Amino acid sequence: IRKIGVLTSGGDSPGMNAAIRSVVRTCAFHNIGCIGIYRGYQGMIEGDFKEMGPRTVNNIINKGGTILKSARSMEFKTPEGRKKAYDNLVKAEIDAFVVIGGDGSFTGALIFNSEFNFPVIGIPGTIDNDIFGTSHTLGYDTALNTVVEVIDKIRDTASSHNRLFLVEVMGRDAGHIALNAGIGAGAEEILIPEEDMGLDRLLDSLKKSKATGKSSSIVVIAEGDKIGKSVFELKDYVESNLPEYDVRVSVLGHMQRGGSPSCFDRVLASRLGVKAVESLLEGKSNLMAGIIADKITLTPLEQAIKGHSEIDRELLRVSDIVSI
Ligand code: ADP
Repeated sequence: IRKIGVLTSGGDSPGMNAAIRSVVRTCAFHNIGCIGIYRGYQGMIEGDFKEMGPRTVNNIINKGGTILKSARSMEFKTPEGRKKAYDNLVKAEIDAFVVIGGDGSFTGALIFNSEFNFPVIGIPGTIDNDIFGTSHTLGYDTALNTVVEVIDKIRDTASSHNRLFLVEVMGRDAGHIALNAGIGAGAEEILIPEEDMGLDRLLDSLKKSKATGKSSSIVVIAEGDKIGKSVFELKDYVESNLPEYDVRVSVLGHMQRGGSPSCFDRVLASRLGVKAVESLLEGKSNLMAGIIADKITLTPLEQAIKGHSEIDRELLRVSDIVSI
C-alpha cells in the first residue's frame, strides 16, 4: 500500500476532524501518501480528491464538523456509481481507504469491497453510539456533554417557574444519549426506545415527584422512544392528566451534532486513526476500529453493521434510584 484515501460519510459528528488529522499524519509517519476524498462517496464518484499532508490538517483537532464535508450519495448505491468511484481511485493511485461514518457508510464500503476487493477500514463516527463493536463512537461523548450543559440551563429556568420540561434528544433508534445525559443532568425520568415505560408509569412518577416536594422536573425523551406519541402530544397528555403541571417542550435538535469535540473524542479519534491506517498497512481489511474497555479493537464491519449496541440496563436502575 502506497497511498490511502480518507473520507467522512453520512451524518457528521464532532471528532471527525481529529480522526482525519490522525489518519493523515499516520500516513505521513509511515511515509505513504494520503488523499482526502471530499463529500463522502459522492466525491469518490466525482473524483473530488485532494492530497493531504501533515500541514493540511493543522488546527482542526478542536473543530466540529468535517473539513472533508460529508454527503449522502444515492449514486453509490448503484453498481454504475461504484464503478465510477473505483475508476477514480485507481486513476489517483489510491490503494485503500478509511471511511469515517455510520452503519450506512460501512454497508457501502463492504459492498464496494466485495465488488473490487478494495481494502477498507471503518472508523465509527456518529453521536448516536448505535454501532456494535465499540463502547463509544466518535462524537458521542461530545454530544453527551452538550446535552448535559443545555439541560443544566433548562433546569435553571424550570426551577424558577415550577415547570415540567420535556426535553427531546437525538439518538435515532438508540437511547444511549437520553440515558446517559439524563442521568448526568439529573433527569426525573428518561424515556428510551429500548424500554417501553408506559404512560401510566410516567404519570405515577410525576405525581410522586410532586408529592415528595420536587418543584420542577426534567423528563428526557429519546427521539426514537416507544411511547408512540410525539413530544408535543405527550405534553398535552401530561397536562390533561396532571393539571397541576405547567409543561414545556424543548427539542434540542442539531446543536447536538456540533461543537468542539471533547478531550475524550479527540483522544479516541487519534487512537482510531492510527489503528485504521496501521491495520491497512498490515494487510487487513473489512474491519472497524473501535474501543472496548479502553483498548483499541478491530471488529468485522459485517458484525458492526448487524450487531446491536445494547444499552446498559443497570443504568435504568441507577436512574430510578438517584431520581427518587
Ligand atoms: P451513516 O453512515 O451515517 O449511517 P447513511 O446511511 O446515509 O449514513 O449512509 C451514508 C452513505 O453510505 C450513503 O449516502 C450511501 O452513499 C452509502 N450507502 C449506504 N447504504 C448503502 C448500500 N446499501 N449500498 C451502497 N452504498 C450505501
